[in-house]
Amino acid sequence: MRIVLLGPPGSGKGTHGKHLAEVLSVPVMATGDILRQAIADGSALGKSAQESVKAGQLVPDETVLGLIETRLRLTDAQHGFILDGFPRTLAQAQGLKLLLGDRRIDRALNLVVSAEVVITRLKDRWLCGTCDAIYNTVSLPPKVVGKCEQCGSDLRQRIDDQPDTVRKRLEVYARESAPLVTYYEREGVLRNVDATGPAVEVYAAIQRAIAKAA
Ligand code: AMP
Repeated sequence: MRIVLLGPPGSGKGTHGKHLAEVLSVPVMATGDILRQAIADGSALGKSAQESVKAGQLVPDETVLGLIETRLRLTDAQHGFILDGFPRTLAQAQGLKLLLGDRRIDRALNLVVSAEVVITRLKDRWLCGTCDAIYNTVSLPPKVVGKCEQCGSDLRQRIDDQPDTVRKRLEVYARESAPLVTYYEREGVLRNVDATGPAVEVYAAIQRAIAKAA
Protein backbone atom coordinates (compact mmCIF):
# COMPACT_ATOMS: atom_id res chain seq x y z
CA MET A 1 0.00 0.00 0.00
CA ARG A 2 1.29 3.48 -0.93
CA ILE A 3 0.35 6.07 1.67
CA VAL A 4 0.93 9.82 1.93
CA LEU A 5 0.62 11.45 5.36
CA LEU A 6 -0.72 15.00 5.31
CA GLY A 7 -1.19 17.31 8.28
CA PRO A 8 0.49 20.26 10.00
CA PRO A 9 3.70 19.95 11.99
CA GLY A 10 2.97 18.14 15.25
CA SER A 11 -0.06 16.28 13.90
CA GLY A 12 1.67 12.93 14.50
CA LYS A 13 2.90 12.08 10.98
CA GLY A 14 6.27 10.91 12.29
CA THR A 15 4.92 8.79 15.16
CA HIS A 16 2.16 7.14 13.16
CA GLY A 17 4.21 6.88 9.96
CA LYS A 18 6.88 4.81 11.73
CA HIS A 19 4.29 2.60 13.40
CA LEU A 20 2.33 2.04 10.18
CA ALA A 21 5.51 1.23 8.28
CA GLU A 22 6.35 -1.48 10.82
CA VAL A 23 2.85 -2.95 10.76
CA LEU A 24 2.61 -2.94 6.96
CA SER A 25 6.28 -3.97 6.49
CA VAL A 26 6.94 -1.12 4.09
CA PRO A 27 9.62 1.60 4.21
CA VAL A 28 8.84 5.07 5.55
CA MET A 29 10.44 8.04 3.83
CA ALA A 30 10.44 11.22 5.89
CA THR A 31 12.01 14.18 4.10
CA GLY A 32 12.38 16.11 7.40
CA ASP A 33 14.39 13.23 8.93
CA ILE A 34 16.56 12.95 5.81
CA LEU A 35 17.25 16.71 5.85
CA ARG A 36 18.04 16.77 9.60
CA GLN A 37 20.47 13.88 9.12
CA ALA A 38 22.13 15.72 6.22
CA ILE A 39 22.45 18.85 8.39
CA ALA A 40 23.96 16.81 11.25
CA ASP A 41 26.42 15.20 8.79
CA GLY A 42 27.40 18.61 7.39
CA SER A 43 26.89 17.33 3.82
CA ALA A 44 26.40 19.67 0.84
CA LEU A 45 22.65 18.95 1.01
CA GLY A 46 22.64 19.72 4.73
CA LYS A 47 24.49 22.99 4.24
CA SER A 48 22.09 24.13 1.53
CA ALA A 49 18.97 23.15 3.55
CA GLN A 50 20.10 24.36 6.98
CA GLU A 51 18.83 27.94 6.89
CA SER A 52 15.38 27.03 5.55
CA VAL A 53 14.86 24.21 8.05
CA LYS A 54 15.97 26.38 10.98
CA ALA A 55 13.60 29.16 9.93
CA GLY A 56 10.64 26.82 9.38
CA GLN A 57 10.63 27.51 5.63
CA LEU A 58 10.42 24.89 2.89
CA VAL A 59 13.52 23.78 1.02
CA PRO A 60 13.21 23.93 -2.79
CA ASP A 61 10.87 21.45 -4.52
CA GLU A 62 13.69 20.11 -6.76
CA THR A 63 15.78 19.24 -3.69
CA VAL A 64 13.12 17.11 -1.99
CA LEU A 65 11.91 15.59 -5.26
CA GLY A 66 15.51 14.52 -5.92
CA LEU A 67 15.70 12.97 -2.44
CA ILE A 68 12.49 11.01 -2.93
CA GLU A 69 13.45 9.92 -6.44
CA THR A 70 16.71 8.47 -5.07
CA ARG A 71 14.96 6.75 -2.15
CA LEU A 72 12.32 5.24 -4.41
CA ARG A 73 15.06 3.87 -6.64
CA LEU A 74 17.23 2.50 -3.85
CA THR A 75 14.62 1.29 -1.37
CA ASP A 76 12.64 -1.91 -1.63
CA ALA A 77 9.26 -0.25 -2.10
CA GLN A 78 7.76 -3.17 -4.00
CA HIS A 79 4.98 -3.62 -1.42
CA GLY A 80 4.43 0.09 -0.97
CA PHE A 81 5.74 2.91 1.20
CA ILE A 82 4.73 5.63 3.63
CA LEU A 83 5.63 9.23 2.80
CA ASP A 84 5.87 11.52 5.82
CA GLY A 85 6.24 15.24 5.19
CA PHE A 86 6.30 14.81 1.42
CA PRO A 87 4.71 16.08 -0.76
CA ARG A 88 4.33 19.51 0.80
CA THR A 89 3.47 21.60 -2.26
CA LEU A 90 1.33 21.01 -5.32
CA ALA A 91 4.48 20.97 -7.46
CA GLN A 92 5.89 18.16 -5.28
CA ALA A 93 2.61 16.19 -5.56
CA GLN A 94 2.70 16.54 -9.34
CA GLY A 95 6.39 15.59 -9.42
CA LEU A 96 5.63 12.52 -7.30
CA LYS A 97 2.88 11.46 -9.68
CA LEU A 98 5.36 11.61 -12.57
CA LEU A 99 7.95 9.64 -10.60
CA LEU A 100 5.44 6.91 -9.79
CA GLY A 101 4.34 6.38 -13.39
CA ASP A 102 1.54 3.82 -13.39
CA ARG A 103 1.76 3.24 -9.62
CA ARG A 104 -0.93 5.10 -7.66
CA ILE A 105 -1.08 6.60 -4.21
CA ASP A 106 -3.68 4.45 -2.40
CA ARG A 107 -4.40 6.71 0.57
CA ALA A 108 -3.63 10.29 1.59
CA LEU A 109 -4.33 10.41 5.32
CA ASN A 110 -4.98 13.96 6.47
CA LEU A 111 -4.22 14.26 10.20
CA VAL A 112 -6.44 17.10 11.40
CA VAL A 113 -5.47 19.00 14.55
CA SER A 114 -5.73 22.62 15.77
CA ALA A 115 -2.85 25.11 15.95
CA GLU A 116 -3.17 25.37 19.76
CA VAL A 117 -2.77 21.62 20.22
CA VAL A 118 0.24 21.57 17.88
CA ILE A 119 2.05 24.41 19.67
CA THR A 120 1.56 22.74 23.07
CA ARG A 121 2.58 19.32 21.75
CA LEU A 122 5.76 20.47 20.05
CA LYS A 123 6.95 22.43 23.10
CA ASP A 124 7.10 19.07 24.94
CA ARG A 125 8.44 16.94 22.05
CA TRP A 126 11.83 15.22 22.42
CA LEU A 127 13.54 13.13 19.76
CA CYS A 128 16.27 10.54 19.78
CA GLY A 129 19.25 11.85 17.82
CA THR A 130 20.24 8.29 16.84
CA CYS A 131 17.11 6.31 15.94
CA ASP A 132 14.56 9.16 15.48
CA ALA A 133 12.19 7.73 18.15
CA ILE A 134 9.72 10.40 19.26
CA TYR A 135 8.68 11.18 22.86
CA ASN A 136 6.53 13.75 24.59
CA THR A 137 7.29 14.68 28.18
CA VAL A 138 3.55 15.00 28.91
CA SER A 139 1.81 12.33 26.82
CA LEU A 140 4.59 9.83 26.04
CA PRO A 141 7.50 10.30 28.47
CA PRO A 142 10.60 8.07 28.18
CA LYS A 143 11.14 5.69 31.12
CA VAL A 144 14.44 7.42 31.93
CA VAL A 145 14.39 11.20 31.63
CA GLY A 146 16.36 12.39 28.59
CA LYS A 147 17.21 8.86 27.33
CA CYS A 148 15.78 6.92 24.37
CA GLU A 149 14.03 3.68 25.36
CA GLN A 150 14.92 2.02 22.05
CA CYS A 151 18.66 2.66 21.90
CA GLY A 152 19.69 4.52 25.07
CA SER A 153 20.93 7.64 23.23
CA ASP A 154 20.38 11.17 24.53
CA LEU A 155 17.10 12.85 23.61
CA ARG A 156 17.08 16.37 22.19
CA GLN A 157 14.57 19.00 21.14
CA ARG A 158 14.27 20.22 17.56
CA ILE A 159 15.48 23.75 16.98
CA ASP A 160 12.37 24.43 14.87
CA ASP A 161 9.97 23.30 17.64
CA GLN A 162 10.26 26.65 19.45
CA PRO A 163 6.75 28.24 19.53
CA ASP A 164 7.73 31.17 17.24
CA THR A 165 9.13 28.86 14.58
CA VAL A 166 6.16 26.51 14.96
CA ARG A 167 3.84 29.45 14.21
CA LYS A 168 5.91 30.15 11.08
CA ARG A 169 5.72 26.47 10.05
CA LEU A 170 1.94 26.52 10.55
CA GLU A 171 1.67 29.56 8.27
CA VAL A 172 3.78 27.83 5.63
CA TYR A 173 1.61 24.70 5.99
CA ALA A 174 -1.62 26.67 5.50
CA ARG A 175 -0.24 28.46 2.45
CA GLU A 176 1.74 25.73 0.68
CA SER A 177 0.52 22.35 1.92
CA ALA A 178 -3.19 22.70 2.76
CA PRO A 179 -4.07 22.73 -1.00
CA LEU A 180 -2.85 19.12 -1.12
CA VAL A 181 -6.00 18.11 0.76
CA THR A 182 -8.11 19.19 -2.23
CA TYR A 183 -5.59 17.66 -4.65
CA TYR A 184 -5.84 14.20 -3.07
CA GLU A 185 -9.58 14.54 -2.55
CA ARG A 186 -9.91 14.95 -6.32
CA GLU A 187 -7.72 11.88 -6.77
CA GLY A 188 -10.28 10.00 -4.63
CA VAL A 189 -7.78 8.85 -2.00
CA LEU A 190 -8.15 11.43 0.78
CA ARG A 191 -9.25 10.28 4.25
CA ASN A 192 -9.53 12.78 7.13
CA VAL A 193 -8.44 11.59 10.58
CA ASP A 194 -9.04 13.48 13.85
CA ALA A 195 -5.51 13.62 15.29
CA THR A 196 -6.31 15.51 18.50
CA GLY A 197 -6.60 12.66 21.01
CA PRO A 198 -4.10 10.21 22.51
CA ALA A 199 -1.82 8.35 20.06
CA VAL A 200 -3.62 4.98 20.48
CA GLU A 201 -6.96 6.53 19.53
CA VAL A 202 -5.48 8.36 16.56
CA TYR A 203 -3.79 5.16 15.37
CA ALA A 204 -7.12 3.28 15.57
CA ALA A 205 -8.73 6.05 13.50
CA ILE A 206 -5.88 5.76 10.97
CA GLN A 207 -6.51 2.02 10.62
CA ARG A 208 -10.20 2.66 10.01
CA ALA A 209 -9.35 5.37 7.45
CA ILE A 210 -7.05 3.00 5.57
CA ALA A 211 -9.72 0.31 5.45
CA LYS A 212 -12.47 2.71 4.39
CA ALA A 213 -13.38 2.55 0.70
CA ALA A 214 -13.92 5.83 -1.18
P1 AMP B 1 9.35 17.91 9.23
O1 AMP B 1 10.27 17.04 10.03
O2 AMP B 1 8.54 17.13 8.23
O3 AMP B 1 8.51 18.81 10.10
O4 AMP B 1 10.29 18.87 8.35
C1 AMP B 1 11.20 19.75 8.96
C2 AMP B 1 11.63 20.81 7.96
O5 AMP B 1 12.31 20.19 6.85
C3 AMP B 1 10.52 21.62 7.34
O6 AMP B 1 10.08 22.72 8.15
C4 AMP B 1 11.19 22.10 6.04
O7 AMP B 1 12.12 23.13 6.31
C5 AMP B 1 11.98 20.87 5.62
N1 AMP B 1 11.18 19.93 4.81
C6 AMP B 1 10.80 18.66 5.14
N2 AMP B 1 10.09 18.10 4.16
C7 AMP B 1 9.99 19.03 3.17
C8 AMP B 1 9.35 19.06 1.90
N3 AMP B 1 8.67 18.00 1.42
N4 AMP B 1 9.48 20.18 1.15
C9 AMP B 1 10.19 21.24 1.58
N5 AMP B 1 10.79 21.29 2.80
C10 AMP B 1 10.71 20.20 3.59
